[in-house]
Amino acid sequence: MDRNATKEKSYLIDSLSQGYLPEPEELITLLEGGIDEYLFQKANEMTLERKGKKVDIRAILEFSNYCRCRCTYCGLSAENPNVNRYRLSEEDIVKTTLEAAQAGYRTIVLQSGEDLFYTEEKICKIVRKIKAQSDISITLSIGERPYQELSAMRKAGADRFLLKHETSDEDFYKEIHKGDLLKDRVDTQKNLKSLGYETGGGFMIGIPGQTLQMIAGDLLLIREIGCEMAGIGPFISHEDTPLRGQKSGDPLLTRRTVAIARLLLPDANLPATTSLGVIDSSQLDLIFKNGANVIMRKVTPWSERTKYEIYPTNFGEEKDIKTARTELEKYIESLDRIPV
Ligand code: SF4
Repeated sequence: MDRNATKEKSYLIDSLSQGYLPEPEELITLLEGGIDEYLFQKANEMTLERKGKKVDIRAILEFSNYCRCRCTYCGLSAENPNVNRYRLSEEDIVKTTLEAAQAGYRTIVLQSGEDLFYTEEKICKIVRKIKAQSDISITLSIGERPYQELSAMRKAGADRFLLKHETSDEDFYKEIHKGDLLKDRVDTQKNLKSLGYETGGGFMIGIPGQTLQMIAGDLLLIREIGCEMAGIGPFISHEDTPLRGQKSGDPLLTRRTVAIARLLLPDANLPATTSLGVIDSSQLDLIFKNGANVIMRKVTPWSERTKYEIYPTNFGEEKDIKTARTELEKYIESLDRIPV
């Protein structure tokens, strides 16, 4: 890269660090690479300034793998007949969450496919029961729901809501979400914000058909919505989907995107996604120096855990919740970070 281009890119990175709102074309120049070391350094500085060395460990409980949607990239799609479907009972969801709280977790993500079996009443009841017995923060990740339902769940005690938008390109959204509308998703995210949820968004890197222009749009969308959390991880193909056999997303481009997200959203929580570790565990180590400050650990009962596969996952060996958490804390400390 010539000297002028390097100078322009480093000037842009400095401007982003100072709150500049870029044009999509400017973000594309950074996504193309060429000045990664400086980008990662600035993202790391911003992370240390806003978050310190702390890495937030969050528990994730996948309570149902039923889903009414047909996303082309997802192993849990309603169109996949090979999924061994399960639903956890309300009692098991509450019991597992309380076990996670006892093991030291301060946040639980209750995640499922879009499964309307869990009505507003059921979710509210679960949230209230958990809140009556612990002070763990509850993040819901259950797909799109109407405003009234989201409002009731918030009143019941849900603190956060995770709803990835996956792509900011309307046509591409229709393609990968098979006919659903991006507008509905973004409207739901705006509803969540207005209801006082801490709102999480996010998207994949490298899904076939995605362009750098789209990634730039994704970054600007999470900034526009004001997401307090953004999950950005590489695409991994699942063999039971129409995208079987396709190349995985590029870990380096993923890290670049997370670093830019850190500069655009200095206070956001940016997880090191599991999918990055599945592709290459060394990339997972690096991402904590590129802007990430959160990691999630599954607490889903082992009897069901391997049935929740959005993409092929390395589940590792069976361990209880406390042991798995202790090991994760040691891993974070080995990266010169402080687990919280
Ligand atoms: S990505 Fe989510 S909404 Fe889409 S099929 Fe998978 S679980 Fe369902």
